Amino acid sequence: MSLYLPHFNLQNYNTLASPVHAEFFVSVKDQEELIAALKFAKEKNFPLLILGGGSNIVLHDDFPGIAIYIQFLGKELVREDDECFYVKAAAGENWSDFVDYCLDQHYWGLENLSLIPGNVGAAPIQNIGAYGVELKDVFSELTAFDISSGLTITFTNEACQFAYRDSVFKNALKDQFIITSVTFKLTKNPVLKTYYPALQHVLVSYSSEEITPELVSQVVSDIRRRKLPDPKQLPNVGSFFKNPIISQEKLRHLQDEFPNIVFYPVDSDNVKLAAGWLIDRAGLKGFKHVAVVHEQQALVITNPERAKAECVLDVAEIVKAKILQQFGVELEQEPRNYP
Ligand SMILES: Cc1cc2nc3c(=O)[nH]c(=O)nc-3n(C[C@H](O)[C@H](O)[C@H](O)COP(=O)(O)OP(=O)(O)OC[C@H]3O[C@@H](n4cnc5c(N)ncnc54)[C@H](O)[C@@H]3O)c2cc1C
Repeated sequence: MSLYLPHFNLQNYNTLASPVHAEFFVSVKDQEELIAALKFAKEKNFPLLILGGGSNIVLHDDFPGIAIYIQFLGKELVREDDECFYVKAAAGENWSDFVDYCLDQHYWGLENLSLIPGNVGAAPIQNIGAYGVELKDVFSELTAFDISSGLTITFTNEACQFAYRDSVFKNALKDQFIITSVTFKLTKNPVLKTYYPALQHVLVSYSSEEITPELVSQVVSDIRRRKLPDPKQLPNVGSFFKNPIISQEKLRHLQDEFPNIVFYPVDSDNVKLAAGWLIDRAGLKGFKHVAVVHEQQALVITNPERAKAECVLDVAEIVKAKILQQFGVELEQEPRNYP
């Protein structure tokens, strides 16, 4: 039986450490408890806040509803073929621990995604990605509970409509499903993806025999520890903005004024700009207004005073306005605001 806790402080359940309250909080460990929590919410007409690790949300004010903390646990090898292992993880499993578990078992493919905060269930929501790999590259299928019908539905890779930091669960099916498990397709032989510049820079000093998935994971983890503030020490949600995608034509205009502008090719018509470079170039690194644009990584906004996350949104608005004014580029926020 789950406990329904009233007027619950969510400060320890979001990595921005925003000290806001939910009307009610409940932790659910299986489908039966989830169904009961949804029934409770329906009876009280409460909006839902589905919580994983709280590392991609901005709780800027009290939440006038129920926070449901997804704690489904378990992982298993569900099948294998000549080339791949199919490994299923429950939604409440910690992502980084799951990556380490797969490396220990010699299930390859997750190494570039090492040390991303949060839980397995949220990973498909924004198709997490890092160092040249996205979740969609290693995804087989997921199961999700349909809030309106009470049915559990299986979603294939195609059905999830994955894109850059995006999926169907942020668009057409927003707030309609609760992900309960994700199955990954992991290879029996390592297929290393090491072309990402920051990785290359370190791996160039190793021979090809020395470059293993374990080494890639270790290098990625080292880079992340160096570059990104640990939310436990300095509250943050990682990248606050997506890298904006613009046309090649717009890039050419920008290059006239900013010849060193950093960009990555997307397709023949479009490129992705490095939002961190734009913010840095606009002179906003270290900008402080309670919340702070991080000195080492301008894409990150920190909340050192553990204040209400409203202050983070205020700084984000200032950053967005300056980037629009200086480069004519609109930045889009990555984490989701609640309420
Ligand atoms: C220091 C730092 C570094 C980061 N680096 C990266 C990175 O390299 N790449 C990257 O992609 N992201 C990165 N992130 C963002 C974040 O870690 C990921 O988006 C992660 O997947 C969020 O997981 P979570 O469990 O914390 O989700 P939460 O923040 O709890 O939830 C995120 C969203 O998903 C919904 N949700 C959560 N669980 C479920 C579920 N089971 N079913 C349905 N909806 C659900 C929530 O309602 C919310 O809308 C970083 C964050 C931090 C703090």
